[in-house]
Amino acid sequence: MSNELTQRLNQSLRLGDIFQFAFEELLEMFGADYCCILHMNEEKGGLEVIACNHSSLQNEILEVGQGLGGKVYTTGESLIMSNYIDNPNTTSRLMNATGSQSLIATPLSVGGEVRGAIMLAHRDAHYFSYDNYRLLQAMAGHIGLAVGNARLHAEVRRLANRDSLTGLYARHYLDEEIKERQSTDFCGCLIVVDIDQFKMVNDTYGHQKGDKILKEVSEIVKSSIRQGDIAARWGGEELSVYLPLMGVEQAVNVAERIRKRVMNETEPNVTVSCGIAEWSWMDERVSVESLFYRADMALYKAKNNGRNQVIVDTKENGGGVKGLPHK
Ligand code: GH3
Ligand code: MG
Ligand code: MG
Repeated sequence: MSNELTQRLNQSLRLGDIFQFAFEELLEMFGADYCCILHMNEEKGGLEVIACNHSSLQNEILEVGQGLGGKVYTTGESLIMSNYIDNPNTTSRLMNATGSQSLIATPLSVGGEVRGAIMLAHRDAHYFSYDNYRLLQAMAGHIGLAVGNARLHAEVRRLANRDSLTGLYARHYLDEEIKERQSTDFCGCLIVVDIDQFKMVNDTYGHQKGDKILKEVSEIVKSSIRQGDIAARWGGEELSVYLPLMGVEQAVNVAERIRKRVMNETEPNVTVSCGIAEWSWMDERVSVESLFYRADMALYKAKNNGRNQVIVDTKENGGGVKGLPHK
């Protein structure tokens, strides 16, 4: 059974799968009535019930230090209880909700740090043996390893899609996302943002200061967009933002906001020029390449017009959807 559990755990690198496998296997392995897995969720500020076969507890956030699971988490020590009714000083939501009498529980440690707790309960008193208690501890070790691997994997995947200097998405990620959006959405906008005279900034203040400004501009871009918009580092000092399901008028507002903030908030002071292009399902042909090409053309015009400005690719200024080179 132990082999079966570890084999199943190693089949997936997804955290959700791992908790689900562990939950199913533990219930069967111990013949328990109930299994409840708690996992620390910093954002929600408590222990999240990640898997439980009692619906009243599923997805609940439990306070750290409260109840039996909270106690196991805070003390980092396993627990065995044969008769809940004989412990009037303890309150447990799991035991109360399920009418259970027996419990074994153990902390879930990942990389030497307690990250949660695993609890198994049975309605009968004196159901779990001391061997069961020890076995659960051993199984928690395997589950902790699998959870650690899944977290590492998620982190590697996250890093692979990011640019390390600015923390923005990498170009390949943006390209893939736009392609995906163009196959499902009906419109969207792309803004390319290029720092003006950046070579001069480097020449004047040095490359390190240049990097610092690049990061500042990236932070401004990140904090000027909606959740769901995608900001990426597209080239050296060229950033781009994809705005799903946004019309060109709104995109101009976003770009203007970025432009003004960069002008006012960077130190040493720099400006940016922006080029905007939009696509819609009515266009003759829709592609990532032509969207970038058109945004780039608009940027080129912004540069030629004197920089520190936003230009939209339109038919009137020689751009537009028709007659452009497509791949
Ligand atoms: P403009 O865009 O206004 O036409 O002028 P520019 O000087 O910015 O023009 P260009 O795009 O030709 O030059 C970009 C410069 O950006 C060249 C390079 O020294 C600098 N650069 C590119 N990537 C980085 C980076 O990661 N860090 C720093 N410090 N500088 C970079
Ligand atoms: Mg530039
Ligand atoms: Mg450039």
